[in-house]
Amino acid sequence: WSAETVAVVTGGNRGIGFEISKQLAAQGVTVILTSRDHSVGLEAAKVFQEGGFNVFCHQLDVLDTASITEFCDWLKQNYGGLDILINNAAVNFNQGFDNTVEYASQVITTNYYGTKNMIQAMIPLMKPSAAGARIVNVSSRLGRINGKRSVRGIIVRPGYAAGLRNSVEKPWKIEDVCLREKFSNLDTITEELIDQTVSSFLQQVQDGTWESGGWPKTFTDYSVSKLAVNTYTRLMAKMLSDRPEGQKIYINCYCPGWVKTAMTGYAGNISVEAGADTAVWLALLPDLAVTGKFFAERREISF
Ligand code: NDP
Repeated sequence: WSAETVAVVTGGNRGIGFEISKQLAAQGVTVILTSRDHSVGLEAAKVFQEGGFNVFCHQLDVLDTASITEFCDWLKQNYGGLDILINNAAVNFNQGFDNTVEYASQVITTNYYGTKNMIQAMIPLMKPSAAGARIVNVSSRLGRINGKRSVRGIIVRPGYAAGLRNSVEKPWKIEDVCLREKFSNLDTITEELIDQTVSSFLQQVQDGTWESGGWPKTFTDYSVSKLAVNTYTRLMAKMLSDRPEGQKIYINCYCPGWVKTAMTGYAGNISVEAGADTAVWLALLPDLAVTGKFFAERREISF
C-alpha cells in the first residue's frame, strides 16, 4: 500500500471512523476523512496533517444527494477515484438498558440507506487493482439473524467479551419463520426484500404496533438497521462477484465490539484502537479474496 492508495472513510471526524482513518494513514494510505460538518472534519484532519499523515478532509453527509454528488465529482477530479471505502457513519439513540424507537426513521435511514447511497455512488469510482478494491461496512452483531443478546442488549460471544453478562443471554430471531429463512438464504435475498422489511418495521413503529412484530426488544431500530446493512453486504457481494480479475471489488462487514465512543456513552469495554482494527485488516489484507462475509476480531462470524 502506498500514498497512491486512496481510502474514503465516512463519519471520520470522531470515534471509530477517526481511528480507522488514523490506522489506515499509519500504513501509508491516503485517507479522505469525510464528515457532515465540514469545520469539524477540518479540525480532525488537521491533527493528522500535523503528524505528517496523508489525511485530507471533505464534507459528506451520507443522506444528502447533493453532498454525495459534489463529493464524487471532487474525488474523481482530485484522486481519479478510490481503492477503499469504509462505511462507518451511523447513529444510535440507545445506550444501555433503554430502548427507544422514537428515532427509528433516522436510524434506519442513516445506517442502512446512507450506507447503500455510498456503495452505489462509490462503485463506479473504484479503481482497478490486483488486490481488489475494498468496501468495509461497519456493522454490529446486533444485526445478526440468529443473534444472541444479553439483558444489556449487547451481543456476547463466549471467551471474548469478558465482563459482559454471558449468563443472561437472550436469543433474538426474526420471528416470522418465512422471513427469517429468506434473510438466511442468499438465493432469496433481494434489495426489495431488505427495503420492504425495513419499511414494514417503520410502518409498525408509526402505527404503534412494532412490539408485536417480532423485532428485537432492545436496541430495536439499530438492530434492524444493521440487519439490513449485513444483508445488503451479502447481496452486493453476489452482484459484484462476476467482475473480471483486476476489477474485483470485495465487500464485507464487521462488528467492532462494544467500543468506548460517544455512541455508547463511552461505556464500552473495547478501545477505539481495538474497535478499528478489523476494518483496517479487511481493507488492507493483500490476499483477502473474501467477499460477502461478516467478521469480528479478524475472524469470520455467522450472519
Ligand atoms: P460515533 O457516534 O462516535 O460516530 C458516528 C459518526 O457517524 C460521526 O462521525 C457522525 O457524524 C457520523 N454520522 C452520523 N450521521 C451521519 C450522516 N448522515 N452523514 C455522515 N456522517 C454521519 O459512533 P462510533 O464511532 O461508535 O460508531 C462508528 C460505527 O461503528 C457505526 O457504524 C456504529 O454503528 C458502529 N458500531 C459501534 C459500536 C460501538 O460500540 N461504539 C458497536 C457496534 C457497531 P457527527 O459527528 O456529525 O455526528
